[in-house]
Amino acid sequence: MPPWVIGIDLGGTKTEIGLVSPENEIAARRRFATEDWRGPQSLVERIDATIGALQAEISLGADLAAVGICAPGPLDHITGTLLEPVNIPGLHHMPLQAMLEAQLHAPVRVEHDAKAAGLGEYYFGAGLGERSMVYIIIGTGVGAAIIMDGRLYHGLRGAAGEFGHATIDLHGVQCHCGSIGCAETFLSGPWLARRYAAACQSIAPSWDMETGITGAQVNELAAAGDPLAEAVIAQAGEALGAMVGAQAMTLDIECFVVGGSVAHCGDSLFIPARAAVKRYAFDALARRVRILPNALDTDAPILGCAWLARRALGA
Ligand SMILES: [Zn+2]
Repeated sequence: MPPWVIGIDLGGTKTEIGLVSPENEIAARRRFATEDWRGPQSLVERIDATIGALQAEISLGADLAAVGICAPGPLDHITGTLLEPVNIPGLHHMPLQAMLEAQLHAPVRVEHDAKAAGLGEYYFGAGLGERSMVYIIIGTGVGAAIIMDGRLYHGLRGAAGEFGHATIDLHGVQCHCGSIGCAETFLSGPWLARRYAAACQSIAPSWDMETGITGAQVNELAAAGDPLAEAVIAQAGEALGAMVGAQAMTLDIECFVVGGSVAHCGDSLFIPARAAVKRYAFDALARRVRILPNALDTDAPILGCAWLARRALGA
């Protein structure tokens, strides 16, 4: 029987830990505030204590075999070291894998959060049965995982999939990354809010403007029939379609799964995205492209990490 494993989603604000059964179900889960300022040693001790609490909750009848953990990039997935992720400055250059292995006495694997969520969707969710798939996560930022012929593609230094900062508008607005017209400036939750606030004031949006609204609220306004909010989400859908079209033309991949909080916009995002793929990609290719909502939502990174943990065991 496959072993019980742990999947951990380490985020800027919270860390979620799931105990995953041999049948690949999240049998129990707990979360705590990441509080990165408390430093690396505190983090591994709190993870250890939380895993202990989960094991007390459910009698496994076996030892916990391995752990997979994902975190915001940039990170080195081979050595399992965090580099300088913007949202968790207290954990910069933390040797996450080595410290957790020393604390937990079990093998640990580390992966970028978007890539782990992509693995979850590929093996257990919307990508089930696909040969190749791109997973696009749209939330506070935009990230992606490319899985080609069953293998996660990392690129030379693990940075593959940064489509969010590929320019899709040469004359667009400045992105916080320093570039112009990045896909993220149309798609992320904060940019939905900025574009809506700017449209209300008939001014151009900018990355440093105060909005007083969230991306989720823009979605609610659109659902209630606010025409400016509807236009902002339709434009985000068109940007998503242009981005998917470019990826399909580059990779000849047909299956694109969209996750993250902005995926909750549903058809108001997906319908214009599918229409845009037909405008921005070759006909023969565009006809094959499918843009699908994710199936696992916030379970995806935990299940992807559990898959990595099993692989660490050769299971
Ligand atoms: Zn950018």
